[in-house]
Amino acid sequence: MTAYPHLFRPLDLGHVTLPNRVLMGSMHTGLEETGDWDRVGAFYAARAEGGAGLMVTGGLAPNPEGAVLPGAAGLMSADDVIHHRKVTERVHGAGGRIAAQILHAGRYAYSKDAVAPSALRAPISPHRPLALDEAGIEKQVADIAAAAARAREAGYDGVEIMGSEGYFLNQFLVAHTNRREDRWGGSYENRMRLPLEVMRRVRWAVGPDFIVIFRLSMIDLVPDGSSWDEVVTLAKAVETAGASILNTGIGWHEARIPTIATSVPRRAFAWVTKRLMGEVGIPVITSNRINTPEIAEDVLAEGCADMVSMARPFLADPDFVAKAARGEAARIAPCIACNQACLDHTFAMKLTSCLVNPRACHETVLTAAPAARSKTVAVVGAGPAGLTAALEADRRGHRVTLFEAAEEIGGQLQLAARIPGKEEFRGLLEWYAAELAASGVTLKLGYRAAAADLDGFDELVIATGVKPRDPGIPGAEGPQAVSYAELLSGRAAPGTQVAVIGGGGIGFDVAEFLSHAPGDSPAEDLAAWLREWGVGDPAEDRGGLSPEGPCPAPSPRKVTMFQRRPGKFGATLGKTTGWIHRSTLRAKGVGMEAGAEYLSIGPDGLSYRKDGEIRTHAADQIVLCAGQEPENALAGLAETRPPGTTHLIGGALSAEGIDAKRAIAQAVRLALEF
Ligand code: NAP
Ligand code: SF4
Repeated sequence: MTAYPHLFRPLDLGHVTLPNRVLMGSMHTGLEETGDWDRVGAFYAARAEGGAGLMVTGGLAPNPEGAVLPGAAGLMSADDVIHHRKVTERVHGAGGRIAAQILHAGRYAYSKDAVAPSALRAPISPHRPLALDEAGIEKQVADIAAAAARAREAGYDGVEIMGSEGYFLNQFLVAHTNRREDRWGGSYENRMRLPLEVMRRVRWAVGPDFIVIFRLSMIDLVPDGSSWDEVVTLAKAVETAGASILNTGIGWHEARIPTIATSVPRRAFAWVTKRLMGEVGIPVITSNRINTPEIAEDVLAEGCADMVSMARPFLADPDFVAKAARGEAARIAPCIACNQACLDHTFAMKLTSCLVNPRACHETVLTAAPAARSKTVAVVGAGPAGLTAALEADRRGHRVTLFEAAEEIGGQLQLAARIPGKEEFRGLLEWYAAELAASGVTLKLGYRAAAADLDGFDELVIATGVKPRDPGIPGAEGPQAVSYAELLSGRAAPGTQVAVIGGGGIGFDVAEFLSHAPGDSPAEDLAAWLREWGVGDPAEDRGGLSPEGPCPAPSPRKVTMFQRRPGKFGATLGKTTGWIHRSTLRAKGVGMEAGAEYLSIGPDGLSYRKDGEIRTHAADQIVLCAGQEPENALAGLAETRPPGTTHLIGGALSAEGIDAKRAIAQAVRLALEF
């Protein structure tokens, strides 16, 4: 008997039955653009083996003008069909099913050839699109239908028509982007003509026995977005036009409301999909911030949807579904919704991977064959680098001892988990604990390893992490100054008027911590989160934007951040999440003072020079977040050991820009070497 009866109920689509209610949602990985189709196939085959009921590929362009970028992957030619056949064969060989997402970017295309209903530049694009004429519209519809036919020819089990997130079809639907006065604009009947024409022509092109998912924007989160009546009208019309399944899209890419970041509560938008249940006869999928089988099961059991879409969780763990089916949910590597190795990579034009699972999209590169000889391995430090190195070495058959001076595992992850909006890190810590418990690793907690303890091990991994940098400000030894570690660990209580020295990732985390009252976490209170960001009920407010706008809870204390360099704060934060941190802190009234030269810390607060003028910022507490230095006291052991058997990783190797992503990736690669 499964713990997830709704999740594991087959879904009969008429010509095919899906074994469970899990859709692996579309993700742009950048793999297709490498041209290494074996690698693309390996990525999807691993997820098919892991039990996803149905998968959707990353967005594939129907034509060059619709591509998100020049050169982006598409379904435009006979060659494309040949390449994609390698993917579908691998997936079918692994017992899976896969649909191709057809994505026309419209005005979001990063190209001067972008086309759209009207010549209105998107706020997130440098290019003004060309407004299509009648013949141009017909070409786009025909190209999308032809791409769908190619998907079928390539062996896909279906297609997903991307009608949400502010892409081409969505641009026709709303007056915000559609200012046309012909039969493609004006009334809603006219504005939905193009998506419906696309749906009808795609169905005609692929025949009846083929899955066609229509991804429909259920809450646009932009001004002049769709009303709920329009959403329902479209859903019904799309069903009539031949869709097999409706998938949920949440928010346009240009929306200034986060929809998938870690600070967004889990299942934050399932209530929106639930509104559509009963309005259509075809299955409806819900999406966004669903990352455990428990949540997926609850969402289905509560009637919010017929199926759940999860995307990033399949980067973190390709075996998500299989582990849930085996009753091993605790061993599913959790997606912490950080975006650090997935979406941030996409925007930096780098191959996608996963902070928690560096093997994602590297399936053919980071293989882990059993070691030729089982060695003894000592790992010092149970932060993300040490934990990963120990577990990976154990999986390869080595005999591993893991030393940790603290009373608990996790290192810096423990501090991250205390930041409001970063509670997902707790799940990562729990997963590491479950993996350790299931492994052969000998864990020595609360044990500060000395040189003698480490003698005789074949391999020594030093993963002792970092220590806070002392910025050397006169007076910092006084009672007003505390390190971020003292504050976040609870060794120091927060002050009432606080200056934060440093505007890097930790400075921002500390400012978030200080500007929330205890127990007030955006990620743990959906109603408060919706209020904070001004998300309204789409049935009352067009596009789901509440007329009151964002209403964050006030900060319980006065917080001001400082940095020495002039200019914008948060320049080193993630591309897809930095704006969220900046908006949150601004809304909480956190001050940001750049270009400060620190002079001293004293009972009056922080004295600094700016623009040639000496100023005092009144504060009863100054939190030092001035970066870190390696904690590498054991590094000298390398000289006493056989060459090549001592390895420094993570912050102990280099503190500059170190984060869990780099630490974990280094550990995985190292463990393959011995
Ligand atoms: P960081 O990002 O390098 O920032 C260090 C800050 O300290 C900078 O703002 C720097 O600004 C200041 N600073 C450096 N040397 C100083 C000195 N001698 N005196 C005074 N101020 C000094 O490091 P971090 O904040 O410690 O974060 C560590 C790593 O964790 C980073 O890689 C970060 O990306 C990652 N992290 C990321 C997040 C996130 O993305 N949300 C959260 C936590 C941590 P000035 O030089 O301008 O003064
Ligand atoms: Fe999830 Fe972060 Fe991995 Fe992306 S990088 S899949 S958000 S854990």
